[in-house]
Amino acid sequence: MSLHGDYDAQNIFAKIIRGEAPCYKLYEDEYVLAFLDLFPQSRGHALVIPKQAAARNLLDIDADSLGRLALATQKVARAVAEELEPAGIQIAQFNGAPAGQTVFHIHFHIVPRYEGQGLGVHAAQKGDEADLKVLQERLAKRLAG
Ligand code: AMP
Repeated sequence: MSLHGDYDAQNIFAKIIRGEAPCYKLYEDEYVLAFLDLFPQSRGHALVIPKQAAARNLLDIDADSLGRLALATQKVARAVAEELEPAGIQIAQFNGAPAGQTVFHIHFHIVPRYEGQGLGVHAAQKGDEADLKVLQERLAKRLAG
């Protein structure tokens, strides 16, 4: 998939929004959804997506949706910082397959970075389900508070 093209409503994140596929949900409102990445680059790796914008990438999305998405990304990053106390947090967003995009519904990655760990870009392994559940509970509770 290139940078340009039509939005495919059958992509996995669209299915998650419609409730047709599961996720480890962290936060949701009318406009955005945040959940844990199933193949985390680090412990607590989260994704934030717009619910109403059928946008593949940063070039497609309307200004209102982008604004809400950015604010939600900040909200989730703050919760990750407070709850998991990483040494740093990487915010990433890829546009087009050559840039590393694999799911063509715009999303921001929130990747906590811990001292002594590398800067992996794509994890080869699925996250441990028990740990994803623990992280979901902790972060969702903090985001609700
Ligand atoms: P990108 O490479 O920026 O398109 O990132 C897509 C991300 O979505 C990757 O980090 C994947 O691990 C993640 N991912 C793919 N399918 C799912 C899913 N069903 N639930 C959660 N994360 C997913």
